[in-house]
Parts: sequence; structure tokens; C-alpha cells
Amino acid sequence: MVSQSPDTRITTEAPVRAPSTVPVDDTVLPFEVETLDLRGRLARLGPALDDVLAKHDYPAPVGKLLGEAIVLATLLGSALKFDGRFILQTQTDGPVSFLIVDFQAPDRLRAYARYDASRLTDGQDSGALLGKGHLAMTVDQGPDMSRYQGLVALDGGSLEEAAHEYFLRSEQIPTRVRLAVGEEWRGGDGDGPKHRWRAGGMLLQFLPKAPERARQADLHPGDAPDGAVTHRIMEDDAWVEGQSLIGTVEDIELIDPDLSGERLLYRLFHERGVRVFAPLPLRARCSCSRDAVSSMLRSFAASDRADMVKDGKVEVTCEFCSSVYRFTPHEAGVE
Ligand SMILES: [Zn+2]
Repeated sequence: MVSQSPDTRITTEAPVRAPSTVPVDDTVLPFEVETLDLRGRLARLGPALDDVLAKHDYPAPVGKLLGEAIVLATLLGSALKFDGRFILQTQTDGPVSFLIVDFQAPDRLRAYARYDASRLTDGQDSGALLGKGHLAMTVDQGPDMSRYQGLVALDGGSLEEAAHEYFLRSEQIPTRVRLAVGEEWRGGDGDGPKHRWRAGGMLLQFLPKAPERARQADLHPGDAPDGAVTHRIMEDDAWVEGQSLIGTVEDIELIDPDLSGERLLYRLFHERGVRVFAPLPLRARCSCSRDAVSSMLRSFAASDRADMVKDGKVEVTCEFCSSVYRFTPHEAGVE
């Protein structure tokens, strides 16, 4: 583990007064359950997710997996201060060998996956698609701040499980995450219903004022000798309740286009009182540009630039958004 704890706590904002029943897509709703010392965020993604996935025409299982990674990165990245950047990447030996989600605070996200279509079979879950390897989460809070990276081994488990491992090892804040991605077929005029991706996710953290209450039960005893009595930590009742509540959230509730985030939070936490803060909007937007690609080309060695000339031009495709940039050999700095 090469990490220092990024602060994923939510900054205080003005609470929303009138609970809305209208679902708002492409937003993150921060919330607080003060009586249980719980803080969290609920992400609902519609058009922004569809935009990212549709640029690549991924097979459905790959789209779903990348969607889960996008929701996870959104839940984590949306806690960053302005100018912060959160990057989630996996490198594994499964059919989806690489995926990356780049979240730039406050609201921009982009992502892509590399996969081997010949290794996709029916019924592969996200663990089988990823296979073995690792998940890296990098937090960059701007030029004046240090950059840190947390690494988690992937061994056939889901991204949710990997996220829990990450929080246990590097953040040491008791955290649970739920992720769901679905395909929706709706409307359409004449040529049948239209396909759209939707996703939702929830992150819940236990942040008591007294730090000793946050000790977690499932820390491995480490290198204690065999037969040693391991000290069993009882989890705090408030956190036991928080985990049990988030455990009841169904995938369909996270992605239901007719259920607002506020309604879902109320449904879960109303007995304890939940306070919902102003929603943070999200959008799918790539940060590539002709200027950036051009200066990247100029940073290459002259011989490498010359090798890139095909049919009298240099063509560069952005892997995130599939934009194609074309340069004449002269523009690309080839003599
Ligand atoms: Zn791009």
C-alpha cells in the first residue's frame, strides 16, 4: 500500500429544504444521518453514462463493468475539492484487461476499457471479466498537494469488494459501497425502443466524533503467532445499523428512473432522520484537444514521429472519447 488517506469527508453545504420527488439524473447527492454519525453520497447516472459508453459500442457485459467503475469513481471523486482529480484503473488478466475512469472535479468524467471480444462468454460477472491483477486509485488534489495512490489486489471478486478492501487498508474509515448498472429500453418512434444505460451507487461512511468508535472488526490479526488470542473488536452499534441499512438497497432502487434520490434516501433512513444536501451535477466530457495532442506529438522523438506518418498524414485517436485528430507531417513536426 503506497498511500496516505485522502480526505473523502463531505464538506458542509446548505441543506436542501424541499425534498424533491423528481428524479434528477447525472447528479451526486451528499447526505448525512446525524443520529448514527453516518455520511454518504448517492450517485445517479443517466445521459452522462450513456454518452461515455455509447462512444465505444461496448458489448453489454463490458459496458456494465465499465459503468460500475464509473459509478465508483464518481462516488469517490465527487468528494474532492475544486481542481482535484480522481483516477481509477484496473490492470488484469481477464477478458477486460484494462479500464480507466478519470474524474476531474467538480463534475467532469471520462472513461474507456480495453477488452478481448474473443474471450467474452455468457454469464461472466464483473469478477470473471476482470480476472486477476490490481486496482489502482489515484488522488491528485492539484499542483500544491501530494499525489497518492492506493493499490488493491483483484482476484476474481467484484469492484464493490475491491472498494471495501481499499477502504479497509488505506482509508481506515468504515465504508460500504453499493454499485448498480442497468440497461433501459424505452420510447422510440417507429424503429423500436431505444437503448440507454443507467447506473446508481451509494457510499456510506461512519465518521463518529470519538475516533475509537470507528475501529473495524475485520482487520486481520497480522503476524500473530498461532494460538495467540486475537483481540476481537466489537463494531459500534451505529455502524452495524448503517451497514445493515445499506445492505437492503436493491440494484433496481439505485437505477430506477422513476425513483428520486431523495425518496430513496428517505425510504432507507427516515426512522433516523436524514439530511440531504444540494446535488452536485455531473457531465461526460473529455479533456482532449487538438493543441494537447499536438504538443504530445512534439514531445516524441523525431524518429517516432516519422514512424507515425501513414498515407501522408498523422492520425491520433483519443481512446477516451474516440475523437480523431489529423495532422500533416509538417504540422506533426516531421521534416
Ligand atoms: Zn478525448
